[in-house]
Amino acid sequence: MTTQADPTAPNRVLVLNSGSSSVKYQLLDMGDHGRLASGLVERIGEEGGVADHGEALRQVARRLADQGVGLDSPALAAIGHRVVHGGTRFTEPTVITDEVLAEIEKLVPLAPLHNPANITGIKVARELRPDLPQVAVFDTAFHSTLPEAAARYAIDAATADRFGIRRYGFHGTSHAYVSRATAELLGRPVAEVNTIVLHLGNGASASAVRGGVCVDTSMGLTPLEGLVMGTRSGDIDPAVVFHLQRVGGMGTEEIDTLLNKRSGLLGLCGANDMREIGRRIGEGDRDARLAFDVYVHRLRRYVGAFTAVLGRVDAIAFTAGVGENSAAVRAAAMSGLEHLGIELDPVHNAVRASGPRVVSTAASRVAVAVVPTDEELEIARDTYALARS
Ligand code: ADP
Repeated sequence: MTTQADPTAPNRVLVLNSGSSSVKYQLLDMGDHGRLASGLVERIGEEGGVADHGEALRQVARRLADQGVGLDSPALAAIGHRVVHGGTRFTEPTVITDEVLAEIEKLVPLAPLHNPANITGIKVARELRPDLPQVAVFDTAFHSTLPEAAARYAIDAATADRFGIRRYGFHGTSHAYVSRATAELLGRPVAEVNTIVLHLGNGASASAVRGGVCVDTSMGLTPLEGLVMGTRSGDIDPAVVFHLQRVGGMGTEEIDTLLNKRSGLLGLCGANDMREIGRRIGEGDRDARLAFDVYVHRLRRYVGAFTAVLGRVDAIAFTAGVGENSAAVRAAAMSGLEHLGIELDPVHNAVRASGPRVVSTAASRVAVAVVPTDEELEIARDTYALARS
């Protein structure tokens, strides 16, 4: 284990996030957390894009080389991969070996839309730099501490066990980063702070974090459960599915697409971007208004539920695209909650800024904060820590 900082030791980490049709990358200097390079290769397998993930990663490698920070650099310490589903097998960042890769492949049925792309990214990166430590950082890992009472669905236990049906939760890297950054913002040890984290991006999830340990989360077996999202329904009565099959004559794939891609804000009003919804509300659009109201109603439900789960709430942290940028969503979600000790400061809330900040009043018992997430930095830290140990 290296304890002393060695200025000649490799200290760069490449973070790869291989999605179904894109690869995002960031190269970080772990000395000062500076971004040396970042970018996105899109439309993988689509017209006008690159053929496959292999080609996408080779393009990333070429771009890095062009910028003078190529994959062959001796300064590169490790490559960190975002992996969506770690099942119950992976509860921590893990150095990738053949055995680990085989285990991740076994989890594909739990995340058929996500894990295959992550796996391809890992394979190609290992071909490009077989000598380098490569680390998998799982989106589910932070939620592995959920108590059984929160993780279990109330269905036949044998069926649940046989098919791995339970709440896993996602966006864990973000929830971990933001809950820690919130404690830092408040100047308190993370072990003493209870936080509700609201990650509101295109995908959206809430988590209840007690002293740095996640005790509840809104996403479940898949990222479909919980909050209203850009294109996902979030919570619905599961019997809606049977109804659509029996009465609507719809097939499984069709319903999957409906709930994941054509629901949420998009399904309600035809737009999934909160900026457009805000504009349309300003023009008097009633569908946009309803979409906003359904979104906020669900959010408030989870704030109430997680307040009950935590007992004492010290902070509510808003993060990701909507959480960081939409003062209107924050104001609507927090309004009328004075009886819970929540008092938003309208002036602070309206300020546009990029850093973490408190947006509640000085008298508010619960600190409401905007805390920009940084999943890449969190993955890089986890990766670097393992690579050096
Ligand atoms: P992803 O889940 O794709 O990582 P992000 O966290 O980047 O998503 O969030 C994207 C969403 O953030 C957009 O769809 C949009 O709804 C919202 N958003 C971004 N900027 C703003 C803004 N200035 N005001 C309101 N919403 C915004």
